[in-house]
Amino acid sequence: MSNLDTKPRASVAGGLRDVSPAPAHQLLPGRPVTLGESTVVRRLLPTLGRRMVGAWCFIDHYGPDEIAGAPGMQVAPHPHIGLQTVSWLLAGEVLHRDSLGSVATLRPGQLGLMTAGAGIAHSEQSAPDHSPLLHGAQLWVALPAPSREADPRFALHPELPVIDDGPLHATVVLGDLAGARSPGTTHSPLIGADVSLAAGAKAEVPLEPEFEHATLVATGTVEVDGDTLSPGALLYLGCGRSRLALHAGPSDARLLLFGGEPFEERIVMWWNFVAGSGEEIAAARERWAGGDFGPVAGYAGESVPAPPLPPGTLKPRGRER
Ligand code: MN
Repeated sequence: MSNLDTKPRASVAGGLRDVSPAPAHQLLPGRPVTLGESTVVRRLLPTLGRRMVGAWCFIDHYGPDEIAGAPGMQVAPHPHIGLQTVSWLLAGEVLHRDSLGSVATLRPGQLGLMTAGAGIAHSEQSAPDHSPLLHGAQLWVALPAPSREADPRFALHPELPVIDDGPLHATVVLGDLAGARSPGTTHSPLIGADVSLAAGAKAEVPLEPEFEHATLVATGTVEVDGDTLSPGALLYLGCGRSRLALHAGPSDARLLLFGGEPFEERIVMWWNFVAGSGEEIAAARERWAGGDFGPVAGYAGESVPAPPLPPGTLKPRGRER
């Protein structure tokens, strides 16, 4: 998934200023964003008032969408640096291709983890014979300084640990939860989990108190920390919680949990790039415009052009929005 805004704004993220060291309760409504030809996503991070939760720096939730007879997701090749993309499907599938030559069909319960490091390009599409329903989340994790220079990699993890502990049913997408660890490589301490709740069920999720956390409901409604959450918003929970009590509404529900050690380093985010400075962002833009990321083999069509840089230098300090 991509930020396909043709006039993207630069923002500074990271640092501890926005981190709540104590439990917090901040409901952040998402906004609809059109992606590619036909997909509308709910963008939940970055949002007004919050840019990161741990190293998580981008959360799009899309669907469930009926796409029978329609193109579905069609995101043309675009570049990334300085981040990992985490592709998580709840229904349907997405065909991933990248400039390393990877071709993978991502399906529910599987983790597609692309580590951009110094640079990679990819496309994401519904295949011509796609399923009638598409539902998922596209997530980015910011890389800390040393890992931003690493070689790009793509991994498809078809098997993830599933916690089945009384009323708690969860898949560990990334990081550790309740003693289970995802095979996905991480570069800072974090958690990403998909929790399933039967209608009316109550469950408690153990949390790492040193982490800040946030959650979204993907399906149904769930009472979390005194609020009834439904799809379309992100609830920021701050740090200092050792557990999270959940109570599903009258239908089966799915909830995605994100958390991580507060990301101390200040970073610059622009378009599909995360970097330590505006100069690195500008250099990556030039590389993409010059074709230096390499082709995404097998993709029929044009790549996403590099939008113009905003005027002025992108500094990891200064302008906040
Ligand atoms: Mn992308």
